Amino acid sequence: MSFVVDPSKIIVNEVPKIERIGVHSHISGLGLDEKLNPMKDNQGMVGQMKARKAAGLIVKMIKEGKIAGRAILITGPPGTGKTALAMGISKAISSATPFVSMTASEVFSTEISKTEVLTQAIRKAIGITIAEKKNVIMGEVVSIESERPSSGLGRRTGKVTLKTTDMEAVFDIGSKMVESIIKERIAAGDIIRIDKSTGTVERLGRSSMRNRGYDAVSGSTNEVPCPSGEIEQHIEIVDTVALHEIDAINSRAQGYLTVFSGDTGEIKSEVREAVDKKINEWREQERARIVPGVLFIDEVHVLDLECFAFLNRAMEGEFAPIIVMATNKDFANIRGTSFRSAHGIPVDLLDRALIVRTNSYGSEEVYQILSIRARAEGVQIEEETLQGLCKIQGTTGSLRYAMQLITVSDVIRSRTSATTVNKEHLQKAYGLFMDVDRMRKSLVADASKFIS
Ligand code: ATP
Repeated sequence: MSFVVDPSKIIVNEVPKIERIGVHSHISGLGLDEKLNPMKDNQGMVGQMKARKAAGLIVKMIKEGKIAGRAILITGPPGTGKTALAMGISKAISSATPFVSMTASEVFSTEISKTEVLTQAIRKAIGITIAEKKNVIMGEVVSIESERPSSGLGRRTGKVTLKTTDMEAVFDIGSKMVESIIKERIAAGDIIRIDKSTGTVERLGRSSMRNRGYDAVSGSTNEVPCPSGEIEQHIEIVDTVALHEIDAINSRAQGYLTVFSGDTGEIKSEVREAVDKKINEWREQERARIVPGVLFIDEVHVLDLECFAFLNRAMEGEFAPIIVMATNKDFANIRGTSFRSAHGIPVDLLDRALIVRTNSYGSEEVYQILSIRARAEGVQIEEETLQGLCKIQGTTGSLRYAMQLITVSDVIRSRTSATTVNKEHLQKAYGLFMDVDRMRKSLVADASKFIS
């Protein structure tokens, strides 16, 4: 199969990011100091000191390329910041690191196979930065020659002699460049930039060296110092696209897919092989660079043995992203088997994972997280009301529920003349929406009214 779509022609501004980004939008890193010690409240992160420190070491290993073939497992009770930590890891690697988040149950689709879902997720978490080499030459014009082809027909081509502070050289120029030299009235003593990749010539100004010598009084404007060192080979970054994006576009171009956007369906292995081959060629030519991202798989205990085996293998792949798994399950059968194991994960995978543990929050941490969230959502909340929200978190045991009440209370507030969320708004929100515990109790109490 030939490679039909040049990734550099794909305009994608950003590698696909997490879908659930909203609730973690306050997190911009792990909040560590230079010695990788967690700061109390930094980059949107509070508490979880040990887990954050461990995550910081993981980031260091990733940056030093020492993590290959390993996975990361974050375990801890619900709502203790496992996803937040994974997000912090990806941000701490670099803000441009692709971060893809999925819930393990997403692999069980009726349309595509489990391993295809995982392959797509993995390839979404691999960024390809396409770089273009630009031949840029800068210098002071010594002389320009141009001539018509010997046949007398066709366009003029020419030669430009340029000098820098340390050398002088002659460059061949094409007809387009000759035209712009004539148009721009470029003459000896001008500082110009020739861009060989676009075939353009740009006049930057008069050489300040020359002016100093015999043109100082003319008041010539736009004086430019003569460049030192000349032919700069600029590598211009075109864009970063997800590897999956390149697969999908090529798959469509090959006519394998009928749906144009969104759903990509199964992608044939030959398409992926051709894409990989091309990317490798480009890496050799220094035109493409791999940016391994982070693939976060939540509720990982839901995966089955086949998926775990697949992940084990995928981790060793050449372009593999960092796989961060999370679970709040203690013991479970490995799906598809009768083997019971910690977190429902096969021992061989557990064995190669760096395991980080998150713990339940104290009231001070809950207060800090809730106030950070209110700020992130642009919600002004009375101090007393914020304390009330902390109490709700304490009784329901759910940080997520308390967070949801911030948004709901603010919507309730917006229908009044108040500018700050107060107790009344919070009470209304609490009355209108149930937390899991109250819902459970009401189900028990009204058991006879529901279909069993
Ligand atoms: P689950 O087990 O239910 O998947 P989780 O452990 O992944 O939960 P998160 O979703 O990360 O929990 O946390 C719940 C909310 O609290 C999120 O909005 C998250 O950003 C925020 N949060 C959790 N821990 C922290 C923290 N240490 N600092 C700042 N925000 C946090």
